[in-house]
Amino acid sequence: MRVSPAGVEMRLIFLGTSGSMPTDARGSSSVVLKLGRDLVMFDCGEGTQRQMVRARVGFRRNMILLVSHLHGDHVLGIPGLLQTMSLLRRERQLDVYGPKGLIDYVKAFTESLGGPTFPVILHEVQEPGVIHEDERMMIMAIRSQHIVEGLGFGVVEKPRPGRFHPERARALGVPEGGLWHRLQHGGEVTVDGVVVRPEMVTDPIRRGRRIVYSGDTRPTGELVELSRGADVLIHEATFMDDLKERAAEDGHSTAAEAAETAREACVKTLVLTHISSRYPDPDVLLCEAKKVFGGVVVAEDLMELEVPLDEGPQAA
Ligand SMILES: [Zn+2]
Ligand SMILES: [Zn+2]
Repeated sequence: MRVSPAGVEMRLIFLGTSGSMPTDARGSSSVVLKLGRDLVMFDCGEGTQRQMVRARVGFRRNMILLVSHLHGDHVLGIPGLLQTMSLLRRERQLDVYGPKGLIDYVKAFTESLGGPTFPVILHEVQEPGVIHEDERMMIMAIRSQHIVEGLGFGVVEKPRPGRFHPERARALGVPEGGLWHRLQHGGEVTVDGVVVRPEMVTDPIRRGRRIVYSGDTRPTGELVELSRGADVLIHEATFMDDLKERAAEDGHSTAAEAAETAREACVKTLVLTHISSRYPDPDVLLCEAKKVFGGVVVAEDLMELEVPLDEGPQAA
């Protein structure tokens, strides 16, 4: 198995955390995941680019944009984002993944405003599953259950090598250098006709971190499955339980429903977002969710959350 290099810093920055409409305190939906210097952005509501400036998130970095659905509060920031990236002479390709209709939407404004000056590759996700994979991570999409076609996303870091024990390698007669490197990265080596396997000189492979973004959705079994054991589940919480019929009609979740998904999936941390202007004091949502699941916080604009490395072994 190939394993990624030593884990990079992983940090979530909540750029916009409001429900359908921005408020004094909250901008439209957007969350960015920093993996070292690279970025994965979940949704890009109006005003996202200004929040990127405030949070010092660069416009020229490697970046993947994941669009959950084509409601204005999740996509109206894309025209401005592409414009600013063009003005800053971005050259790197930007890959954008989203549901059917993404291409028509982007075409509509690029035809009248002029296209970006760098390659933008639009991917309409046809089927749930793995939509992107590189040496560091995998990105998975599931169908959400909203009033329009939508997606939820999981970003899963590749497993990292277990801790290497040089004294064990030396004891087995493996000379320092290329053979050590090979063992550290999951390969076998042969020394004087004897096979040395990586597990003989390293601790078990450590699991990669998992971040899940619900998008706007009702609770679903797929979301529980995708979130299983996640380090962070970012879940919408548009209503409280007294409005759960309304949540069902509008294709949204209540804070308690988000917490139930987190509990069922045994996530480490649940972050509630997509906070309605109905709840100027978000503690009411927090209290409701806490009755179901303890490890919960409510997102604020520009809140940052570090996702520490998981030192535990990879699950079988
Ligand atoms: Zn929304
Ligand atoms: Zn929506």
